[in-house]
Amino acid sequence: MGSLLLICHFVFKAPAYLLWLGLGYIVPSFSVATQCFMSNKQLALFAPILGSFYLFGAWSSAYAMGLRKTANAHSSGCAILIAITLVLLSYYSYIDDQLWIRMLVLNISIAVVESLVLFSMFKSYQNVDFLNKIVDFSYLFIVLYTFARGIIIFLFLKNIQADMLATSVWWLMMLAASIILSMWFAIVLLGTLVRDIIHQLNDERLRDPLTHLFNRRGFNEAAKVKLHCLSQQSYFLLMCDIDHFKKINDRYGHLIGDQILQQVSQIIGQNVCGHDLVGRFGGEEFIILLQVDDLELAYSIANRIRLRISDTQLSSENITVTASFGLAAVHQHNLKYAINAADQLLYDAKNSGRNQICFEPSLTVLDAQH
Ligand code: GH3
Ligand code: MG
Ligand code: MG
Repeated sequence: MGSLLLICHFVFKAPAYLLWLGLGYIVPSFSVATQCFMSNKQLALFAPILGSFYLFGAWSSAYAMGLRKTANAHSSGCAILIAITLVLLSYYSYIDDQLWIRMLVLNISIAVVESLVLFSMFKSYQNVDFLNKIVDFSYLFIVLYTFARGIIIFLFLKNIQADMLATSVWWLMMLAASIILSMWFAIVLLGTLVRDIIHQLNDERLRDPLTHLFNRRGFNEAAKVKLHCLSQQSYFLLMCDIDHFKKINDRYGHLIGDQILQQVSQIIGQNVCGHDLVGRFGGEEFIILLQVDDLELAYSIANRIRLRISDTQLSSENITVTASFGLAAVHQHNLKYAINAADQLLYDAKNSGRNQICFEPSLTVLDAQH
């Protein structure tokens, strides 16, 4: 599991917290593996070293959760606690050899190290989606289980002899529970990771990086779904192109041009409804699918966008720009035809002097018939 998390981090460029979580799995596993080959005498001799591996693993997992949630894992507090634990482990190994006290001290210390991050993790707990909630609560459950392990050791494994430990039912149950919980945690965490990567890939495939509007492909896909699923509604297609944008780029440079594109995209977004679709069709051209009943309403929205654009001072240079529009009805949900029509009307708006909206004359007739 740990190697899988490390591979995700190093090969697939997954976030840094996976590196720490991977170490949180791998380092304690070394302890477990080494213990299998040790005699009871050797176990007592190496207890502080083996313990430090477990403690590092606990801190590493807590630190990973902190990185993931931008929460504080209280690393310096953990370091002090780990140092005290190692002193106690040394005492109960070399001076007073007490296996069950060593196990108890180690467990409590691991549980506290893991739990310190919980305070800031759950402090402002809002807007967390379902899958991430499962990860967070699984971690909480693991911490609670670690505390419970301490109680089990105190109640059922007190004064147990080293020879009897490996065959004790409680010990075996604790091992099984630890393995199952660790596997569960890695699976849900990798689940959220896969989901995030798919979201990100979809975002890059369907969105324009500059304005974060749909790109042409994203707009086409979303519009087709919308026209298919809500086929009873009536739609209008609006094409918008910034006037003389090349001159702005030539005069102020591309960075200012980019700022203007971002702000114009925001203006468009602010002046349409949530159910309308907005995309960047190409360079300085935007496309909008308006879900409205009649031309009058579609026109008033287009005009509101036109006026907002021309009235707003844009970019750090306070530049004003205008835009031209082509407005076409989407007949029989034929998107391609509507795009061609709106594009042609946009061309007409440019030729008629820019900063205006052109729509099909037939639409007025259509509208009157409705
Ligand atoms: P018109 O009024 O006829 O539309 O004139 P125009 O200058 O706006 O149109 P033209 O097609 O001649 O030029 C479009 C310009 O848009 C050219 C290109 O440099 C600029 N442009 C396209 N994409 C971007 C972009 O992502 N960032 C910036 N800054 N400029 C862009
Ligand atoms: Mg233009
Ligand atoms: Mg253009």
